[in-house]
Amino acid sequence: MEEQKLEAVEVKCPKCGYTMIIYMPKEEIPKCPKCGTQMVISELLDEGKYY
Ligand SMILES: [Zn+2]
Repeated sequence: MEEQKLEAVEVKCPKCGYTMIIYMPKEEIPKCPKCGTQMVISELLDEGKYY
């Protein structure tokens, strides 16, 4: 069995600032539900933060 490692990623709408958490690679970066703009990765939550 293959274990898929999910990574929590914060994505943000560059236009209106709406943010949400998605899990990659299971989910793709969505479009903003408010204004329809393609959202961008704002922050990786699992990696590179706590050492
Ligand atoms: Zn937006």
